[in-house]
Amino acid sequence: MIEDLIRKTAADDDDAAEELTAIAAADPQRLAPHHHLMLDLDVLWPAALYRGAGADVVARVVERVDGGQTPDALNHLLLVLAHSGHPLAEQAMRRWETAPPPGSDALHVGPLRYAEEAGWTVAPDGTRRSLCGDVAYEWHLRPSTPEPDDAACPWCTSPLWTAADLPDAGDALAHTGWAGRLAVRTCHFCSCYTTLFTAVTPDGGSTWWPGNVRPDYIGRDAGPEDPPALLPVVGPRRQSPFQASAWHDGGSTLGGHPEWIQDADHPACPGCGLLMDYVGQLYGGDFDEYGEGAYYLHLHAPCGLAAVNYQQS
Ligand SMILES: [Zn+2]
Ligand SMILES: [Zn+2]
Repeated sequence: MIEDLIRKTAADDDDAAEELTAIAAADPQRLAPHHHLMLDLDVLWPAALYRGAGADVVARVVERVDGGQTPDALNHLLLVLAHSGHPLAEQAMRRWETAPPPGSDALHVGPLRYAEEAGWTVAPDGTRRSLCGDVAYEWHLRPSTPEPDDAACPWCTSPLWTAADLPDAGDALAHTGWAGRLAVRTCHFCSCYTTLFTAVTPDGGSTWWPGNVRPDYIGRDAGPEDPPALLPVVGPRRQSPFQASAWHDGGSTLGGHPEWIQDADHPACPGCGLLMDYVGQLYGGDFDEYGEGAYYLHLHAPCGLAAVNYQQS
């Protein structure tokens, strides 16, 4: 069955590609025995199909990049390596930072930045760091009563929105090092236009970060609007960390890895410059039937800063 799906995907069958993607999300190892066939048929996209690829598959991809016969495929090949997460892939990506492979002049970012698409990065001290968690939960939006205080967005004057309120960090946030309650209050509307940062404290404190930079076009005309009176509540644990969806109802997910609509956008912490840890995503369609896009939540525990950004198609 999987082999059939791979052959259909090679023939540009989008439904087959989607089915393979769902398999790779639920149980990445199921595709591992088929990675060589995928390479043989030049199925490089979606690159997430190569999660958990083994050393020999990764070696083939590295060899192909070094060989430079298909410079047009370099973007996809680097994504494949990033998603494999394999140490050999990391080694090659580091090497290409200083010795760029053929075709890399057409890339928008350096080879190692591709790691962010798969939720990891190499810290300034050279150590590898995962930006995402190993554990994910369904995140259900439930009616909530507005906060009793009257904190408002200083830009558009709308009441602040509680994007998350977790009584304790739990295993979904283990990779962040956060301890205590985590609340993230921000502007539901302005966060659609720029990454908004929030100062957070382990007692659930959450305040607008004064360093947020207002783009010119925000809040000039629109009056205040009420954010949705819905709060994400933690549901059952997901089978794998890769099942968040930015396209389907019920896709909102605490922990695990995000499903980006555009390129990966892990914000740099304004406190220290390091990339922030990913916390979870809220699908626009889970707020109301006309909703779209997705809000992405991030945290840098050492600096006590959270962030929310948004993407749509
Ligand atoms: Zn606002
Ligand atoms: Zn920081």
